[in-house]
Amino acid sequence: MQGFEKFYRKSWAQRLAVLQEEHKLTESQVETLKKNAVSPEIGETQIENFITQFQLPEGLALNFVINDQEYLVPLVTEEPSVIAGASHGAAIVKKAGGFQAQSLKRAMRGQILLENVTDAASLKTALEGQRQELLAVAGAAHPSIIRRGGGPVDLQVRNLADDLLSVDLVIDTQEAMGANMINTMLEAVAQQLRTKEHLDVLMAILSNYTTECLVTARCQIPVVNLAKNGVDGAEIAAKLAQASRVAQLDPYRAATHNKGIMNGIDAAVIASGNDWRAVEAAAQAYAAKDGQYRGLSTWQVQDEQLVGELTLPMPVGSVGGSINIVPVVQVNSDLRQEKNAADLAQIIVSVGLGQNLAALYALVTDGIQKGHMNLQIKSLAAATGATGTELAQIVAALRQLDRPDSAAAVQILAKIRN
Ligand code: NDP
Repeated sequence: MQGFEKFYRKSWAQRLAVLQEEHKLTESQVETLKKNAVSPEIGETQIENFITQFQLPEGLALNFVINDQEYLVPLVTEEPSVIAGASHGAAIVKKAGGFQAQSLKRAMRGQILLENVTDAASLKTALEGQRQELLAVAGAAHPSIIRRGGGPVDLQVRNLADDLLSVDLVIDTQEAMGANMINTMLEAVAQQLRTKEHLDVLMAILSNYTTECLVTARCQIPVVNLAKNGVDGAEIAAKLAQASRVAQLDPYRAATHNKGIMNGIDAAVIASGNDWRAVEAAAQAYAAKDGQYRGLSTWQVQDEQLVGELTLPMPVGSVGGSINIVPVVQVNSDLRQEKNAADLAQIIVSVGLGQNLAALYALVTDGIQKGHMNLQIKSLAAATGATGTELAQIVAALRQLDRPDSAAAVQILAKIRN
């Protein structure tokens, strides 16, 4: 493994050569890595030890009417049915007037954690008394954000234990998610607390529990619009509300309910070039905000309307990180035509609610497998290595089977080729 020494200092070509020299990959496998690396110069600026660009499919979710405007929403996902589901959910909502979405606030939070505190109550009071001075120290560490109209806006001190305090800064990061600028400001304040106040700083870092940037999407659908295959719309709406109730009561169901929401949200966040781990961390923490993990969305029947609501933190930016670096992210922004980061956040949360509607609607009517199997069959056919007209033949033959699987797909291909 000598070739891996100082791997990070090697050029991209040298790294690929090492993989071959060390017999980790064959020549043709290295060729696959090369072919996939569509812009190595960008990849090398994004991460360390770059070897290739991993591809995920991108598709467009349609029918998203949000605050009276229709949006095309690029989604990046490898999972079949996500884009179809989002578009279907959005179509039901579009017919009922669309989503209403709003950003309740837009700021981020960072923490300076103090340890070995002897008198937590009086230190809290003392630090709260220095609020203006500490906010000024934070602002001076990243003055450009103040020129842009943002900057530190609040300081809160929380007792975590007798010997632990969290000094929280709430920061308006304007159009950025702001991780880096927040950390810069926190470190400046931490330094002041160390040197001037002689306090023990354990660490200074932003919080991914971003409760200062909550976004809500709502929709209201006449229950009659939900009728399907002869089943009354009111009956289906009642089942949807019951499904929502179960997700509030049972963490086993809530995790799956929320996974369905995040199917759309993660896909939209990835397409926007934002940090989807930050969005996931925030959403999952918010789902447990009252001590029990619950479904993030709720559905209720009120006056013959099915009313859906989804609130969660959406810490996304329109600048920063990979957003300005990756060309397809810019193309996606042009497709969405959002005005700013707050607008983008509202689109993403609406996608989550639309996705959730489609999943619950399928679950309480046909079951989820019917829609899934259509795409699954295409994946099974593609996995055989079939090409051109063979693919269509395999798909058609698999559709005739009660339980289509990969072995059946291989057998069908063998028959076609004989
Ligand atoms: P950047 O560090 O790229 O900062 C964004 C910069 O954009 C700002 O500092 C600002 O610089 C500039 N800018 C231009 N126009 C505006 C505007 N209108 N509003 C605000 N800023 C503007 O990105 P972020 O600070 O947003 O950090 C996001 C990155 O941090 C992501 O890649 C994420 O993965 C990563 N990260 C996440 C962590 C976490 O979630 N725990 C931890 C650490 C990193 P200027 O004013 O100087 O022009």
